[in-house]
Amino acid sequence: MRMRKKTWAAPFLEAHPELAINDPKNYKGKWKEYLNCQSLHVEIGCGKGDYCTQMSVKEEHSGWIGIERERNVAAVAVKKAVEMESKRLCFIVQDAGQLSEWFEEKEIDVIHLNFSDPWPKSGYKKRRLSHRGFIEQYKQCLAEQGRVIMKTDNSTLFEFSLLEFADCGWKLAEVSVDFRRKEHPEDALTEYEKRFLELGQPIYRAIWQKNG
Ligand code: SAM
Repeated sequence: MRMRKKTWAAPFLEAHPELAINDPKNYKGKWKEYLNCQSLHVEIGCGKGDYCTQMSVKEEHSGWIGIERERNVAAVAVKKAVEMESKRLCFIVQDAGQLSEWFEEKEIDVIHLNFSDPWPKSGYKKRRLSHRGFIEQYKQCLAEQGRVIMKTDNSTLFEFSLLEFADCGWKLAEVSVDFRRKEHPEDALTEYEKRFLELGQPIYRAIWQKNG
């Protein structure tokens, strides 16, 4: 998600260091203490934060961390969190490639990948958030019973992800090729999801559980 430069974004992020975490390495092993929670959810590529801000209200006892590398986009997410006075939510405004340097082994309970960039050219597939390079990091950071939950509109990315997690030995716990066919009030809509639903497109969703 690219956006025109927002002049207010950088000073706004700097003014909210409790929400836009500057040096996530300093919190390694301490995220649950910081967010005062028992269960930790991390959304990678959270965009403008619609999902994690809403979920932090729906599941108010869990801690939520949104990771977004685009500062102009992340600033919109942080603004929503400020307005909601969220208590168990914060953001990392960096590329998620460093994930295992920010989280202790088994520290995260659930990783959410919502409408991740598909990177359709095969030369760029290492950038897909469901590429095995990322999956290895997820394995390290997730708890024993930890899960990755993916939603996407993109059938090619979905097929790639199903094969990639299977190759890495993960258990496919749930799969749907039309998740919103039924009501799911427990699960918030993301910004992209709303757009695809308005276009009548099906939402693919899978949950993987790591083994060991
Ligand atoms: N999840 C949101 C939604 O469903 O509305 C945004 C989807 S948008 C297509 C994907 C977002 O992921 C973009 O804002 C992009 O900057 C971010 N992103 C992609 N790769 C990333 C990475 N490696 N680390 C952090 N953010 C990433």
